Amino acid sequence: MLNGQIIKGIGGFYYVDTDNGLYECRARGIFRKQNITPLVGDRVSMSVVDEETKKGVVEDIDKRDTELIRPPIANVDKALIVFAVKNPKPNLSLLDRFIVLAEKEHLEIVIILTKADLDDRNELEEIQKIYELSGYKVIPVSNKTKLNIDKVKDELKNSVVVFAGPSGVGKSSLLNEIDKNFKLQTGEVSEKIKRGKHTTRHAELLKLECGGMVADTPGFSSLTLDDISEYDLKDFFIEFDDFDGCRFGSRCIHEKEPSCAVKEAVENGEIPKKRYESYLQLLNEIRQGKRRY
Ligand code: GDP
Ligand code: ZN
Repeated sequence: MLNGQIIKGIGGFYYVDTDNGLYECRARGIFRKQNITPLVGDRVSMSVVDEETKKGVVEDIDKRDTELIRPPIANVDKALIVFAVKNPKPNLSLLDRFIVLAEKEHLEIVIILTKADLDDRNELEEIQKIYELSGYKVIPVSNKTKLNIDKVKDELKNSVVVFAGPSGVGKSSLLNEIDKNFKLQTGEVSEKIKRGKHTTRHAELLKLECGGMVADTPGFSSLTLDDISEYDLKDFFIEFDDFDGCRFGSRCIHEKEPSCAVKEAVENGEIPKKRYESYLQLLNEIRQGKRRY
């Protein structure tokens, strides 16, 4: 029996990465009976059927720590949320939406601010301040001057990560910098959309030179908040946690309630105003969505 991790799945075959190399495996019939589908990212035990041709059978699947739906990958530990300081102009409310989705999946979050070389109005520092105050690690990066590429590599070591963020912010360029084996196409958004039609819909984990693995498709391709209730949203704004003195206690959604510790913290600058505004905006979006259906 060998231990390994599924890094690719195509047409009923699972490719299991082990210390002994890569094996092409079928899954035991019992999984189908139990309605279990092995996922890319699953840590498994497998038996070897033929060492020569590297064929095997997945015998057992370990309990998953996390399970993403888009892309479908198990055991992702970390989301690197990538935004540019400029070109495209950073949309912080969109950044907060990515954060909510990653928090909901219990991923560790690191915010990467690319195109630091284009920052001529200290916008980077402003954004960095907001998210550090909220409790996140923020890494300014330039793929041009290579600023902090090594720090990003440190985040990838021994982790399974997804990159997330809008088009054009430099995700592909960053991956190409991190690992010289990558030769991802970079450039205009329109070219990529055309290219996207031909890419496979199977998720895959790519092994990195520096250790660790990265999903080959960006995380959170669907950005809807449909399955978050207006009462749960506050749990995904982690900085609210530090302020638990609301009169209505855990029933407070920090909106119109009197004696709200979170609103007070926003007033005296302990919680960034921008984050609180995003919270209210997303809260309203969730309510409107619920009304429609
Ligand atoms: P993706 O859509 O997020 O994968 O973004 P790409 O990696 O394709 O980059 C989009 C565009 O931004 C390309 O023209 C890159 O050359 C450019 N770019 C990426 N990173 C940087 C950076 O750090 N600084 C500057 N000035 N341009 C960058
Ligand atoms: Zn409150």
